[in-house]
Amino acid sequence: MPKQKAPRKQLKSYKLKHINRTVQEGDAVLMRSSEPGKPSYVARVEAIETDARGSNARVRVRWYYRPEESIGGRRQFHGAKELFLSDHYDFQSADTIEGKCKVHSFSSYTKLDSVGNDDFFCRFEYNSTTGAFIPDRVAVFCKCEMPYNPDDLMVQCEDCSEWFHPSCIGTSIEEAKKLDHFYCEECSPEEHEFHNSKTTSKNSDAKVNTKRSLEVGKTRNKHTKRSG
Ligand SMILES: [Zn+2]
Ligand SMILES: [Zn+2]
Repeated sequence: MPKQKAPRKQLKSYKLKHINRTVQEGDAVLMRSSEPGKPSYVARVEAIETDARGSNARVRVRWYYRPEESIGGRRQFHGAKELFLSDHYDFQSADTIEGKCKVHSFSSYTKLDSVGNDDFFCRFEYNSTTGAFIPDRVAVFCKCEMPYNPDDLMVQCEDCSEWFHPSCIGTSIEEAKKLDHFYCEECSPEEHEFHNSKTTSKNSDAKVNTKRSLEVGKTRNKHTKRSG
């Protein structure tokens, strides 16, 4: 005889006594990692349920992946607090929730006055089977043609509105922070004359294509699977 499954109760919210916080559907939570020493997992609570007596609470979660857990691995343009909303769902005991956190949109993350421990951002959805991202392309900036990493300072040319890394325009982050006005070498003719011999023709057509973008999720060098 198969065991009879007890009916479970669906809850809109649930008080986690061990952290004295209430979780609701849609909340982002930190969950204890099964591997010691690894950072907490981040997940979005999709549903909360208990058994008929109101105990043994468990949550249906949708995992966020860190860049290093993705098939393509962490890339230069990935921010330290970047997460990908995966298509990987699980049931977890509510006891494994260590705390709540905030997963911001990319634009609201870049507008934060200060980034706390519990602040993350997400700009991609991630297919954990194929390694594909949605969107599959991301705009690139600067001479180095890299997508924007919100951890890296960039300066904007007041004329063409293109963004540049200080190191890519031959200055330091400290110097760049002091700039009141910045014109890139293509927009500042005086600069151009001085550096005439050094300017490369490679850069001159870069600006023409304003919809430059990079295809993401192309490299496949490792595969990390989440256990549990
Ligand atoms: Zn650059
Ligand atoms: Zn410019």
